Amino acid sequence: MTTTMHEKFDILLETEGDHECEGLGRDKVCVRIVAMAELPTRFGDFHIIAFENNRDGKEHVAITKGDVIGASDVPVRLHSECLTGDVVGSLRCDCRDQLETALKTIGQMEKGMVLYLRQEGRGIGLINKIRAYSLQDEGLDTVEANLALGFRDDERDYAVAAHMLMSLKIKSVQLMTNNPKKINQLTQYGIEVNGRIPHIMAPNEYNRFYLETKAIKSGHMIDFRGKEHLREQYDDPIVEGMSEDQIGALND
Ligand SMILES: [Zn+2]
Ligand SMILES: [Zn+2]
Repeated sequence: MTTTMHEKFDILLETEGDHECEGLGRDKVCVRIVAMAELPTRFGDFHIIAFENNRDGKEHVAITKGDVIGASDVPVRLHSECLTGDVVGSLRCDCRDQLETALKTIGQMEKGMVLYLRQEGRGIGLINKIRAYSLQDEGLDTVEANLALGFRDDERDYAVAAHMLMSLKIKSVQLMTNNPKKINQLTQYGIEVNGRIPHIMAPNEYNRFYLETKAIKSGHMIDFRGKEHLREQYDDPIVEGMSEDQIGALND
């Protein structure tokens, strides 16, 4: 399997290594594959595939399991970079739980991938995200902090993800999401989405705010210290133990 994956990648690099197109989405983003390496992790053995971006220089990666190049029905999770959550384990968001759950789930599958998108702070960067945190610390409400943080540009995110899937010649995907609306957006960029895999996290002491009655309120989440936070990922996971109402509220 490993050999096949490397052989396929070498061929892909030869034919697509200097790829350039008009780009996708409003920002006309085009990415191209650059390198691939083995990536053994605590969640399973993956490959990591690096992409270079001809518009804003952001370096995205696909963390892939199994022989995915040119494959059909590939389980895919889209994850937006969150340095504070992913790396440091911040409890202001649940990004790390979401990422670990995705890697654990896909790590046990025959094939699949996490697209790790460099969209820190909803695409406006780490510094602005920390500015927004700072405003919240000073007591500003979410609306005001929202203005500082800016709003996520879903369109741009999906354009990059869609192009990454195209670059890997993925024929069709099963999106790991709880939000059916996201499937439509990816479809608009020409990706065939054959199905949806619910993103379900095991409960732990850090995500229990989701399980509390007021956990989800008008698109925001409230942590166990009673502070309200913005969602940093595209869509929220389901935590085992959530009520039907809480699950339903995720997509409102
Ligand atoms: Zn392109
Ligand atoms: Zn986060």
